[in-house]
Amino acid sequence: MSRPPIVVRTLPALRGALTGLRARNATTALVPTMGALHDGHLTLVRLAKRRADRVVVSIFVNPAQFAPHEDFASYPRTWKADLAKLAAENVDLVWNPDVKAMYPDGFATSIVTEGPAVVGLEDRFRPHFFGGVTTVVGKLFTQCRPDVALFGAKDFQQLRVVTRMARDLDLGVKVIGAPTVRERDGLAMSSRNVYLSPEQRRAAPMLYRALKETAKRIGAGGRIEPAVAAGAKQVSEAGFALDYFEARHAETLAPIASTKAGPIRILVAARIGSTRLIDNIAV
Ligand code: AMP
Repeated sequence: MSRPPIVVRTLPALRGALTGLRARNATTALVPTMGALHDGHLTLVRLAKRRADRVVVSIFVNPAQFAPHEDFASYPRTWKADLAKLAAENVDLVWNPDVKAMYPDGFATSIVTEGPAVVGLEDRFRPHFFGGVTTVVGKLFTQCRPDVALFGAKDFQQLRVVTRMARDLDLGVKVIGAPTVRERDGLAMSSRNVYLSPEQRRAAPMLYRALKETAKRIGAGGRIEPAVAAGAKQVSEAGFALDYFEARHAETLAPIASTKAGPIRILVAARIGSTRLIDNIAV
């Protein structure tokens, strides 16, 4: 039997609801999302349930992480369907502030991150992005004060940045990464996949295929540089405009020249038509 979660849209309502949830020292997990929920998000919710007594999901399309030319206005918003999915998962609380509640008039403070936020991957192509993400996630953590928070490995650099931030700022939240959930053909689930035309959708799984083949070559002892070049070529030939296709140190995200230098993650970002997709894989 599913029961609808409590939905709150103001900070006083959030505080009241959290006090109720935390009765008898219950622990809480937070799953931050921008809505348009798919099985990737719901997997985070299911993992959250295993890590804490109560689960809070935030749904907030964060304007601060979109550049003016990006898709903030057209980002898919599917509130009713989202709520039904969260009810089916028995989520306890949905935090759904509006922009004014999150960024009141005169808002003038933000979180600046370095380390994994400035390694020349997403930050190179979306210079505004991590400032927007860390500021809103920092706010979500202080608003909800969860014991744990779940983030998907699909946004691998973001996972590293948020993990670092929680540690650096003593936010008292344990950040837990969850594996990427994929469609049957390998395409990483994303709210932005709805933008793809049927033809683009058919081409899109090439991102994962190229990642897998590159990881296999490097894992089998192949040199990193030619393996990455071959992967990049595969993606370009499938009709993508490549932002990056790179092998990096899986922890620091620094460039890495050999498997002996540490665990490797291969990361890709590429545009097909006006849709930008990202994905990554461990070697
Ligand atoms: P978003 O709503 O796109 O901001 O994503 C909210 C959270 O869901 C982030 O932690 C994402 O990394 C995670 N997420 C998005 N897509 C997937 C996926 N396919 N598999 C696992 N986690 C995902």
